[in-house]
Amino acid sequence: MADFRDLRIVVIGAGMGGLGTALAFAKKGFKSIDVFETASNLGFVGAGIQMPPNVIRVLDALGCWEEIEKDATDVRDTSIRQGSTNVELAHVNMPDMREKYGFPHCTGHRASLAAGLFNGCKRESAIKFHFSTAVVRVNSFTPKPTLTVKPRDGEEYTVESDLVLASDGIKSATRTQMLAELGTASEEEDTGQAAYRIMLKRSEMEHDPELLTLIDSDTVVRWIGERRHIIAYPVDHKQIYNLSTAQPDTHFASATNATYTTRGSKKTMLEVYKDFCPLVHRMLDLVPEGEVCEWKLRTHKALPTWVHGAVALVGDACHPTLPHLSQGAAMAIEDGAVLAECVSRIPAEKLNDADHISKTLKVYELLRKPHTSALVDLAAFSGRTLHLGEGKAKEERDRLFKENGKSGVVPDKWASPDVQKMIYSYDCVKDAKERFEELFATLS
Ligand SMILES: Cc1cc2nc3c(=O)[nH]c(=O)nc-3n(C[C@H](O)[C@H](O)[C@H](O)COP(=O)(O)OP(=O)(O)OC[C@H]3O[C@@H](n4cnc5c(N)ncnc54)[C@H](O)[C@@H]3O)c2cc1C
Repeated sequence: MADFRDLRIVVIGAGMGGLGTALAFAKKGFKSIDVFETASNLGFVGAGIQMPPNVIRVLDALGCWEEIEKDATDVRDTSIRQGSTNVELAHVNMPDMREKYGFPHCTGHRASLAAGLFNGCKRESAIKFHFSTAVVRVNSFTPKPTLTVKPRDGEEYTVESDLVLASDGIKSATRTQMLAELGTASEEEDTGQAAYRIMLKRSEMEHDPELLTLIDSDTVVRWIGERRHIIAYPVDHKQIYNLSTAQPDTHFASATNATYTTRGSKKTMLEVYKDFCPLVHRMLDLVPEGEVCEWKLRTHKALPTWVHGAVALVGDACHPTLPHLSQGAAMAIEDGAVLAECVSRIPAEKLNDADHISKTLKVYELLRKPHTSALVDLAAFSGRTLHLGEGKAKEERDRLFKENGKSGVVPDKWASPDVQKMIYSYDCVKDAKERFEELFATLS
């Protein structure tokens, strides 16, 4: 091997994390990047996604933001309302994201974000996608990891690599296998929450002036109530209004592993939000019978390590989060960019040095773990605050809401200027460049 570009990279999973990782490595000049994906195509759920400035910074550097931006909506403000009355608790203006952080805060369709990343990958001859091909197991984690993969209609075969980046999601089998090798059990955490994801068409809303105002806005609206909330925003050039909910998980409680989604009943959904205002109900009523889909929201206990040998976990595989901060996919894409930065620092004479490679991946973990853990905790904390029932804590929360962020603090951490500053100004690649050597030295 002449230099780091010759390292053979295997990426497991073509979700947001896998696509971002493959593209980041290609942009660094790596010549051989194989992406294995169980599904036959990208297969993203019909749902919206928020793209905060910190991830747009990365997407821009990867050369794919221009395409994604064409379909994205700039968020100008956020309105937090009492679910039962539609009375506004706080209105936080966000007109100056570009000035403050260099990039906007946008909403978009998941398919648009995925397509932008995928098209970026397709322009890179180094990246080879293997759809309908599952990684069955990692046979060895070090020095040169080997994997067994199985095409849907074919025989298993072995893949050799120099580095494996496992972005195989919340159900990550690589994580389970890695922890088993290290003598620890993989412990998923039940959040007790589930989500409905809903997309309403403009044509369904435009007859109702109040609904039309919502879809025509640049506003993220959150309706909150005890133990539940709904967040909503326009996507797709305001042709679609996206709603994502969070409510107590009553349907998955017994189904521990196999299924994370289920066809829900419209009657139940309306019942869950029965205390919410007529405006919300006019939207929920538009969901076609038989098209209610509920998702279980899961996380995982903090992992003792994200790295074993020459294998590293990425995205939801290592830091799954509740969605209340809208940072899950953003963090997964950032992970890939940081990994590429770290691995490109392996000197030519160390390319066959298993210890050096493993330490390099460990630096990635040292760079990412404190930041992502803080965000995961903050998302959970924010959810608890949003879901408060009557009492002193709720009164204090609503008093803070009334200040509308003038103190720099809003109880909905997603909308809180202090939290936004901390997350949106964070340049993960710059941080990796600045601290790589120092962190590597701590491992020597
Ligand atoms: C309701 C909700 C709203 C959200 N909103 C936002 C938001 O607004 N902004 C945001 O940034 N994030 C948001 N998120 C979080 C975000 O969706 C996830 O954090 C992100 O998609 C994780 O990406 P990933 O690539 O790590 O995992 P995944 O997207 O789960 O991808 C994993 C991929 O690996 C594949 N795979 C798994 N096992 C194997 C195998 N053995 N072999 C081959 N392939 C395999 C899977 O098929 C899948 O394609 C939200 C999440 C939810 C639930």
